[in-house]
Amino acid sequence: MILSIESSCDDSSIAITEIKTNKLIYHKKISQELQHSVYGGVVPELAARLHIEALPKILEECKEYFPKLKAIAVTNAPGLSVTLMEGVTMAKALAISLKLPLIAVNHLKGHIYSLFIEKDEILPMTILLVSGGHTQIIEANSLNDMKVVASTMDDSFGESFDKVSKMLGLGYPGGPVVQEYGLKGDENRFDLPIPLKQSPKIEFSYSGLKNAVRLEIEKLENQEGGITLQDKYHICASFQKTSVLHIMQKLKKLFKQSVPKNFAIVGGASANIHLRSQLEELCSKHNTSLYLSELKYCSDNAAMIGRVAVEQYKQNDFILINDIDVQSRIKDLIWA
Ligand code: ATP
Ligand code: FE
Repeated sequence: MILSIESSCDDSSIAITEIKTNKLIYHKKISQELQHSVYGGVVPELAARLHIEALPKILEECKEYFPKLKAIAVTNAPGLSVTLMEGVTMAKALAISLKLPLIAVNHLKGHIYSLFIEKDEILPMTILLVSGGHTQIIEANSLNDMKVVASTMDDSFGESFDKVSKMLGLGYPGGPVVQEYGLKGDENRFDLPIPLKQSPKIEFSYSGLKNAVRLEIEKLENQEGGITLQDKYHICASFQKTSVLHIMQKLKKLFKQSVPKNFAIVGGASANIHLRSQLEELCSKHNTSLYLSELKYCSDNAAMIGRVAVEQYKQNDFILINDIDVQSRIKDLIWA
């Protein structure tokens, strides 16, 4: 079995995965969303303190599996440096005391392998990764051959939901609440600009859309009586429609270049129902098989890290305790 640790942002999570069967033996996650909500976003220093509290509590619960462990795995990049360090420090201590090898896992590969939790791997696949920090299209041929073919030039898809939510005073994370408010609004009430509509390139941008939303909100706040709840519903619906339309326009371009056999969407924001249903339509039109992670595995969790670690274990892809380091960003476009 492998024990895996995830602490790249605001979720403290530990999983135990059986190497032979990919079976998830144990999995727990303690989310910090409530504590960060009042600030409208994740406060790194607070997140690190909360990981120090939560991770040992979870670890205590899986002590019974320690004798069966063959390796310790941990997310070391990308993410918030101060929170990644909490997981890495715990992983190092466990590896030393239990005399086990250490596996360093790329968090984004983790999101991709959330598709394969308790399942066999299906690759090659074209993947849309939409999370709090990333909006990318990845050509994944194998665990060691993944290429980023498109990215965002500024904000990410999930982040733009968080920022719109913050502007409307709806707390953090923004995705679920903006989606819920959107259900009660008219998506055509505001005419927002679709990002990079004229550009032939396949890339993403969300800062312009965010600013357009900001201007609409300011106008509503200055109207007599200020912004109403119904106004907020309309803003959320119109923003969501436009942000998903931007992704869909670029994906249609991608499918025009070459139709993928297998397509998947992963990351915390892949929980968005509007995006999911539009993708289902696009893929069924092109006879592409669409893969979605279970909703509970879309946001950060250690089960997906453990699933990657199983593959790395089979490849003897270990890292020396003195060599592991945390990295806030992954700059390479090809992940080996
Ligand atoms: P990264 O994985 O890039 O390092 P992260 O781990 O912080 O970033 P995730 O936990 O994968 O991000 O996803 C969180 C993001 O997903 C938040 O921005 C959140 O608002 C967004 N999100 C969650 N649910 C939805 C939804 N239904 N619609 C849109 N966005 C959503
Ligand atoms: Fe993530």
